[in-house]
Amino acid sequence: MDYPANLFVVAAPSGSGKSSLVKALMELDAGVAPSISHTTRAPRGQEMDGREYFFVDRTAFDAMIEAGDFFEWAEVHGNRYGTSRQAIAARMQAGHDVVLEIDWQGALQIRRLFANAVLIFVLPPSWDELRARLQRRGEDSAEVIELRLANARSEFGQVRNFDYVIINEIFERALFDLKAIVHAQRLKYGAQRRTRAATFKALDID
Ligand code: 5GP
Repeated sequence: MDYPANLFVVAAPSGSGKSSLVKALMELDAGVAPSISHTTRAPRGQEMDGREYFFVDRTAFDAMIEAGDFFEWAEVHGNRYGTSRQAIAARMQAGHDVVLEIDWQGALQIRRLFANAVLIFVLPPSWDELRARLQRRGEDSAEVIELRLANARSEFGQVRNFDYVIINEIFERALFDLKAIVHAQRLKYGAQRRTRAATFKALDID
């Protein structure tokens, strides 16, 4: 599938800091918008339906799968998450870049649908730091933290399928890296052709 916009996919094991990175990117760059996923997990803390996620029950989620409403979906830590067509197609058709913050399974499904998608994997600098971040977050029980760490071990193996790797040791540095990837992607020949087709046409470049 081809749209006159760029699609960035950021994946990482939980605790790698990808949400903060993506949030900071969005604050700095009005040209890139997030996608709001559907999930079967319950809202946490201050989360609001339609802002962080669309919170739906399993029956509604599965009906959407049946109806072919998702570009991708996956089961992550026991809940289902998916990117609906509605969440991104119109936005990209209108020429706006989109960033998906999803797990690696979803990222690989997106790559099959959108050959031009840019896949970015965020790694923590060490196991100790990953554990410390999960503990500091204070969102999960010790049991859940151990599960997330165990999952991270197999998730790390997926990094080889991604285009770019950001090691999130110092936040500002990692944000700089993310901005650099976004900027470089926008300047690629293929991306310029898709997003600036009118300019190419006006210059009689075919
Ligand atoms: P959380 O429950 O902590 O918000 O998210 C858990 C994991 O699900 C994270 O890795 C997050 O990136 C991933 N996730 C969120 N939305 C989607 C989605 O639409 N599709 C897929 N495949 N993963 C998602």
